[in-house]
Amino acid sequence: MNKSNSCTEDLDDISMTAQELHILSELDSRQYGYLLLHLPENEKKRELVLKAVKYLQLMVVQARRQQKVQDENEPNNFQQNSKKISIDPKTWVKLGHFHLLLEEYRKALSAYQMFYKIQAENHWMDPTFLYGLGLVYFHFNAFQWAVKAFQQLLYVSPSFQRANEVHLRLGLMFKATQEYESALKHLQLALVDNSPCTTPKSIIKFHIAHLFEVQGKVKGAKDRYELLLRDKSITQSLRADIFRQLGWLYHCHDSLGDKNQRIPLAIHCLQRAHDADQFSGQTLYLLGRCYASIGKVHDAFIAYRNSVEKSEGNADTWCSIGVLYQQQSQPMDALQAYICAVQLDKCHSAAWANLGILYESCGQARDAYACYLNSSRGLSNRSSEDSFLSSKLPRLNLSSVGMNPHLLQRINFLQSNLANAPMPSATSQRRQLLSIEEAWNLPISAEMSSRQQQQTGSQQTKSNTQSYQKNFNQGSTPQGPPPPYPSPSGAPVKQFKPEPEQKPTPPQHSFTLSPQQLQLLNYFQQNVNNLTPAQENMRLQLQHQHRLMQQQQQLRQRQTVAAHARPGSTPPTYNGNSHFQGQSPQDVTPPLNITKNMSSPNGDKLLQPSPNLIPSCTRDITMPLSGQPSTDMDVSEEELKDFLSQKDLTTTLAENLLKHFGSDAIDIKEEQDQSDSGVSKQDVDSKKRIKSPKQDSILTIKSEPPWEVDSMHSDKRPEVEYSIEMEAKTILRLCKGEGIKGEISNSLISDRAPPPSPPDPPTIKLNPQQLLPPTPSVYLDNKKHAFSPQLQEFCLKHPIAVIRGLASALKLDLGLFSTKTLVEANPDHSVEVRTQIQQPSDENWDPQSGKKVWACISHRSHTTIARYAQYQASSFKESLKEERDKAASGLSDSDSKDSANFPKRRRLCNIPPSLNTKGCNQPKMLKFGTNVDLSDEKKWKAQLQELMKLPAFARVVSAGNMLSHVGHVILGMNTVQLYMKVPGSRTPGHQENNNFCSININIGPGDCEWFAVPDAYWGAICALCEKNQINYLHGSWWPVLDDLFAANIPVYRFNQRPGDLVWVNAGCVHWVQAVGWCNNIAWNVGPLTARQYQLAIERYEWNKLQSFKSIVPMLHLSWNLSRNIKVSDPKLFHLIKNCLMRTLRQCSMILEFVKHKGVEVKFHGRGKNEASHYCGQCEIEVFNILFIREQEKRHVVHCMECARKQSPNLEGFVCLEEYKMEELMEVYDNFSLYPTISATAEQYRLM
Ligand SMILES: [Zn+2]
Repeated sequence: MNKSNSCTEDLDDISMTAQELHILSELDSRQYGYLLLHLPENEKKRELVLKAVKYLQLMVVQARRQQKVQDENEPNNFQQNSKKISIDPKTWVKLGHFHLLLEEYRKALSAYQMFYKIQAENHWMDPTFLYGLGLVYFHFNAFQWAVKAFQQLLYVSPSFQRANEVHLRLGLMFKATQEYESALKHLQLALVDNSPCTTPKSIIKFHIAHLFEVQGKVKGAKDRYELLLRDKSITQSLRADIFRQLGWLYHCHDSLGDKNQRIPLAIHCLQRAHDADQFSGQTLYLLGRCYASIGKVHDAFIAYRNSVEKSEGNADTWCSIGVLYQQQSQPMDALQAYICAVQLDKCHSAAWANLGILYESCGQARDAYACYLNSSRGLSNRSSEDSFLSSKLPRLNLSSVGMNPHLLQRINFLQSNLANAPMPSATSQRRQLLSIEEAWNLPISAEMSSRQQQQTGSQQTKSNTQSYQKNFNQGSTPQGPPPPYPSPSGAPVKQFKPEPEQKPTPPQHSFTLSPQQLQLLNYFQQNVNNLTPAQENMRLQLQHQHRLMQQQQQLRQRQTVAAHARPGSTPPTYNGNSHFQGQSPQDVTPPLNITKNMSSPNGDKLLQPSPNLIPSCTRDITMPLSGQPSTDMDVSEEELKDFLSQKDLTTTLAENLLKHFGSDAIDIKEEQDQSDSGVSKQDVDSKKRIKSPKQDSILTIKSEPPWEVDSMHSDKRPEVEYSIEMEAKTILRLCKGEGIKGEISNSLISDRAPPPSPPDPPTIKLNPQQLLPPTPSVYLDNKKHAFSPQLQEFCLKHPIAVIRGLASALKLDLGLFSTKTLVEANPDHSVEVRTQIQQPSDENWDPQSGKKVWACISHRSHTTIARYAQYQASSFKESLKEERDKAASGLSDSDSKDSANFPKRRRLCNIPPSLNTKGCNQPKMLKFGTNVDLSDEKKWKAQLQELMKLPAFARVVSAGNMLSHVGHVILGMNTVQLYMKVPGSRTPGHQENNNFCSININIGPGDCEWFAVPDAYWGAICALCEKNQINYLHGSWWPVLDDLFAANIPVYRFNQRPGDLVWVNAGCVHWVQAVGWCNNIAWNVGPLTARQYQLAIERYEWNKLQSFKSIVPMLHLSWNLSRNIKVSDPKLFHLIKNCLMRTLRQCSMILEFVKHKGVEVKFHGRGKNEASHYCGQCEIEVFNILFIREQEKRHVVHCMECARKQSPNLEGFVCLEEYKMEELMEVYDNFSLYPTISATAEQYRLM
């Protein structure tokens, strides 16, 4: 091989000094956001990194070339992997890090993906890889993927140096995807962490306040904003953001006081916001809205005009300008403003609706009809579009998008009236307004400017309007077809122009900042507290321009998305926001000259848009300033999808490299495994050679970069083999010294276990019968049956089982749980209420889109037993009346077979919801009384005693129930809960807490319908939840049965009649709907089986990964079990013992760390029935060693990680110990496998 071909460079041409190599060895994803390579002072480092990138690229190319040579020389070996030349997988990670630091996100993603491909099995072992990958996904707004990478990172490395950056981003992503509880948790964790952070705490606080605002918690948001304003150190731009949000809060919320007081406050705040940031068009727009709302038309108009002038003239502003004109009876001006709005945003529902009202008021019904239709379409398109962008479904409510409740009514009315009317023609009578398609296609500005010339006639205005015209249209009429002009008869949509095939041309970057400007901006932002007034001013301008740039990119992205969403229509090409620059407010006469009184015919209220207030500082964090904004943000959703599909990616980089270096494309295969010794030898060799004189360099294969590679295993000690056969003291000796660094694995499974992930479902293809298997059920005749061991065995064998006739076999007095008895016993007892939509049991409709969805609405509130009882009764009476009316009208309900004295087993809920029929009725809501706590033995003595009649395995408390060994109450799990239902009441899909089993008895008088899926399929359901953009653990979801069947998931479906007991086995996914009026009682049990214990531990770990609190304290429980029971099942024994070993080791390491920090450990002991402890910050269970700190006058327990994040040396924390290590060691050593005594199902024996 000679070097005469196009490649003239090789590795040895790139020389690096020892110091440079050292610098490079220390660079990884953790420097992202800290080491800003585009800053002038980092120019040298940047060059070094570029050199290193080149080196790595050359290395890859050489390895491949060598491979080719080898393959040609030894074709016989072609199939043998052993001869393949491998590149150390870590090379890709390093390359990814370098690209990330250079803010070359695509390249970084490509390199990281390469590593992932090679190391799919144990990619998670390298936290810097997970961090870098998460950051790149976050950059591309690929939230689902970013969340995954970050969650895995925090799981494998709880003490990760940049945990706060991770929590911050998780918080922002969950805020964006409307998972507010999770968002708050992560933002708070970012806030309490005192490690260095790229984002000031004040901005994190602002996000928390904003989180309250978006949840509608107005008071909480307002208080937090006001508190933040008192902080003198906050930046001007943050001050502007806070005042703007606060101003808008005052404008919108009645709860903040009387309008006469609120609006002046709102105006005051918005003016302060404007003072702090002169360049925000949005602030001016909101100010305009405030003025308009109190009739200060002139001020409002000026504010709007100024807003447009700030080049943020968005659709909302134009819509509001239209409203102002329309209210001032200037229909022509209003028309033009609305047209501006809808041309900017074709989905602007409010503008379309207002335009419709305008047309109707001028008697142009056909135009009005078209506009209304576009309005309703805009609404549905908007929601699909938003969900696409955010990759989560936003839960919009009708008011938030300005949906006119009369809209559908108007559409229907006009439709029926227009059906027989002739289409408009040129000969029809003169119209007051241009028709919608004329207005759309006509160069508006020409029309508008001619009007202005008539009005003002001044020379100066003329020149201005010319520029206006030019800018507005870019010298031509708006491109793209007019909005569809729907035919009322439902005929195909008429097209006025042939559909242009080409995609909209990408707009120019009118606001692109030069790299120098970006650097400057970055520099200013880094030094924001030390700027001169002039610099501050410049910073604000640059920042403003940067935001515009981002908005423009967003807009463009949105338009692209919209084009994808509606293949039949191409959005008008809208070239930037710049067309109003240079235009003075006088160009358009303020609408003060009221010419005639024009009001809409039906008194319809004009719709104001609901501005989507995205705090600008969100954008700053979400999109860290990039040196190459234009290239990197050009990634379209589709491209990103390609990226994420991980198909083509892995070859991209290599191919590009080969192309770049003029080599032929070679089929490249990476070697999967390499022996460690081989690598290290090559490593040594390559280190030696790096500065040696040129040899036949092509033959010098370097599989590792010349700098020290921080191997993913190197910082961990060689894995010590722990075994449960070892004595406690051996375990403690083995882990001695490991705790000092404080990197202590939390995993209950092993240091080497991958982060938990949902299981792949069974692959057996099921036929239609198997997809709807018969439900395992037993009919009980007598008490003996109920107590037979076979019954328990039967239950443990099946995912779910229904025991029919249990109540009568045991002579249970279910009347004790009837609503009547409950009211008599404790009328004021608290009931949690879920407000839900009444739906057919196997369907779940979204009232807005009219589509079947998974997300189900379930709003929470509270009431009392007496009040709920009243509701339950009146709901029943109401339906009886309906039934009587129906009967009177001659309609019979075949399903209303009277059972005993309760004729209500009608399937009320089988009536499809009104929204199903596309009508405009409101969906029928119902109230479900849930989670009524019956734990109080004094209040519910008779009831609880009655349940003692149950067989042991189903009892609330029994020795064979793990939950009875927790030693304290876990409400609803080892205590009874009651459910009070009306037909349609829904318990959405879930697995029980920590996968425990559950017992559910229907009290009656009505039935409940159950759906259940075996636990082996929970991963598949979890994936479907994700696909439907709803969180499996936190969200409320109701599976669409067809989706389940399509995914080969079997579903048990059955009715639970009064007196039937349903046994839900460990991990079974289930959802329940009341058929009639009924009450249910339920609790959890934990049979002492290996399967139950294993599933509980697995879920414990999964919850940890998901930052979801495990209600069952498995550590505490495991230690109690080892003290209380003798286990003869080897598998169960092994599992419990392993958990003990892991905790013993963790405790020892934590103590070592604490002592190393010089903190005294105080013995505290444990009180009887004392509850288990959870970390007050991250909600992880804290076993044995508690870190206590006073917080808002309360003593809050922390886990070690959370304590360290607040205070690396644990200053300010008191460290308490609940058990002496000697005691734990003794318990551990004494816990041993108990010899099997009998061959019965009960393989354990109670002490
Ligand atoms: Zn914690």
